[in-house]
Amino acid sequence: MKDSILVINCGSSSLKFAILANSGQDTLMEGIADQLGSDTSSITFKHQGEKHQKNLTVGNHEFAVKEIKAWLDLHPDINNTLVGIGHRIVHGGETFNQSVLINQEVINGIQECASLAPLHSPAHLKGIDVSLALFPGLPQAAVFDTSFHQSLSKEQFLYPIPMDFYREHHFRKYGFHGTSYRYINQQLAQLSPNSDQQGVLVAHLGNGASTCAINKGKSSDTSMGITPLEGLMMGTRSGSLDPSLLTFIMKAKHLSAEEALDVLNKKSGLLGVSELSNDCRTLEDAMISGDERAKLALDMFAVRTAKYLVSTATTLESIDHLVFTGGIGENSNYLRQAICQQLRAFNIKLDDSLNNNAPRGAVSNIGAKDSHTQVWIIPTNEELMIALDTISLIQGL
Ligand code: AMP
Repeated sequence: MKDSILVINCGSSSLKFAILANSGQDTLMEGIADQLGSDTSSITFKHQGEKHQKNLTVGNHEFAVKEIKAWLDLHPDINNTLVGIGHRIVHGGETFNQSVLINQEVINGIQECASLAPLHSPAHLKGIDVSLALFPGLPQAAVFDTSFHQSLSKEQFLYPIPMDFYREHHFRKYGFHGTSYRYINQQLAQLSPNSDQQGVLVAHLGNGASTCAINKGKSSDTSMGITPLEGLMMGTRSGSLDPSLLTFIMKAKHLSAEEALDVLNKKSGLLGVSELSNDCRTLEDAMISGDERAKLALDMFAVRTAKYLVSTATTLESIDHLVFTGGIGENSNYLRQAICQQLRAFNIKLDDSLNNNAPRGAVSNIGAKDSHTQVWIIPTNEELMIALDTISLIQGL
């Protein structure tokens, strides 16, 4: 069937891509262009189990998309099945509460949100611009990380600061990982058909991490804020803390506000506390070898994740499901156990054996028989969600 979608995810210095076919079920090719903006940028294609890497003569987003186009020209069997392109967009502000087909008005809307995501938005716009030029016949869609959380009530999304910051500058909680939460919500509805009438907590735990409460199918609260820095402790991000600390850090190390923010975004979290790594696997190995700081970092991560799960749960009538997803949520039985240990007062209990023996990369129900909440591992798939959104928008044309 002719239904392949090219999914493009432009980061500030990388461009990830994949071609999904058969209603998104098959990945025909995937890859990444890395270290864009440097002299050592390269692009890697994975196709039929083989990896091909080449250096980029010009290390920018435009050249990376040109390389993808050149690859497609060499693979007409795949090129001929392409029906659209889906772009992952980090910030849709209050303008976009769902995925949309890209036209000039949408591009202007993304541009208007750029001040809220200054690192990502220019890369997204570049990716769209180049794709429109290189693939003029293909419809293209924008899928926003923020749109799923546009259902939050004012009480949840406003910051308790003078209202004119919201009125004039749109400073409010937006939340992220929305494409992942939407995918999990749909998967859970297939596993437990009543879940769209229930209360669901999701912990998306990867290098970036957040929690989301889904009340009767709609996001009712989430831990990330106007940027992805708020909320949980993450790989290199501190998550929430007393805002006064920013000025203390600036004064202690003679830093500008941006530099101090860099400490909180890039040098904190698991990395900052362990003084070893931002990577959960490395820290678990170190903990097993007796590294106390690695254990402290992991246990702080668990405690803070549990706190935010409880905090977001205040928007639910009941906690019927807890879902773990993301690289850490799907793979770390140690952290899942440590998080649920903190939730014992809420009668959320794991079955230790099911948790420890959960198959990798698959859905698992790991709750104890007497747990009030069903506990799940559901692997996320943001690319698939982007491809499905793109297909459904194209079908509506
Ligand atoms: P993500 O950002 O969703 O790709 O997740 C990346 C995080 O998942 C990193 O901290 C990895 O160390 C962690 N992770 C991946 N596999 C495992 C594993 N088998 N055990 C523990 N953590 C893992």
